[in-house]
Amino acid sequence: MKLQEVDSSTSYHSGYGAGSGEVIREEYKCPCGNGKVIYEKDDIPGFKETNIYSTCKECDEKFEFGRGTAKEKK
Ligand SMILES: [Zn+2]
Repeated sequence: MKLQEVDSSTSYHSGYGAGSGEVIREEYKCPCGNGKVIYEKDDIPGFKETNIYSTCKECDEKFEFGRGTAKEKK
């Protein structure tokens, strides 16, 4: 299912010595509507990481999250 986006931002990051990059952060409503799903991506030279997590315990247990999507765990 698709999640509803509530906020997104991109912030400049001066980097770790290999040039500057950015940090992308997107917030979505979790499937039950009581919490949020956060998507964070660090796009910095030499340091690339993607992080997706939910602030809602129930949905975190029930779903697997992608960028703006949720999939029921089997
Ligand atoms: Zn929830």
